[in-house]
Amino acid sequence: MSDCPNGDRQASIWNMDGPDDEFTFGEARRLPSPDPQGWVDGSPTSGRGQSCAICGSDEVAWVHPLARDLVAYREYGKGHTLPTFWALCDRCEGIYASGDVDAAVELMRSSDVWSSVPDEDVTECIRKPLEVFRRADLGARRLDD
Ligand SMILES: [Zn+2]
Repeated sequence: MSDCPNGDRQASIWNMDGPDDEFTFGEARRLPSPDPQGWVDGSPTSGRGQSCAICGSDEVAWVHPLARDLVAYREYGKGHTLPTFWALCDRCEGIYASGDVDAAVELMRSSDVWSSVPDEDVTECIRKPLEVFRRADLGARRLDD
């Protein structure tokens, strides 16, 4: 006997908020950024001048753009941020893709970049950035040269 909207109808209005929130979140990650010339999505398209983030080789063949909202982490309670991408050589790309974290850590320890990290800091200063890299990785892209 009443024309008032019933409870079911109100519920369907509330449910419409969910997809809108997700859409906004997805868009926020694709904000335009001031990339240098020849860069796409915060990472270079050429390996020139880059070195492998794991072993330090300058024979890089792959680049992994990183999700900007996932690159921040804490090392011994101090804030750190990975760059907008990691470049990898062919060998390290294979090791990373295989999921062999221990092999990747070994290679990192033998490179000039990470060799100053003492044994007791390996978990905090090598494994952790490697985990953050894996978490933020947007996928491998083959470099042009
Ligand atoms: Zn490498």
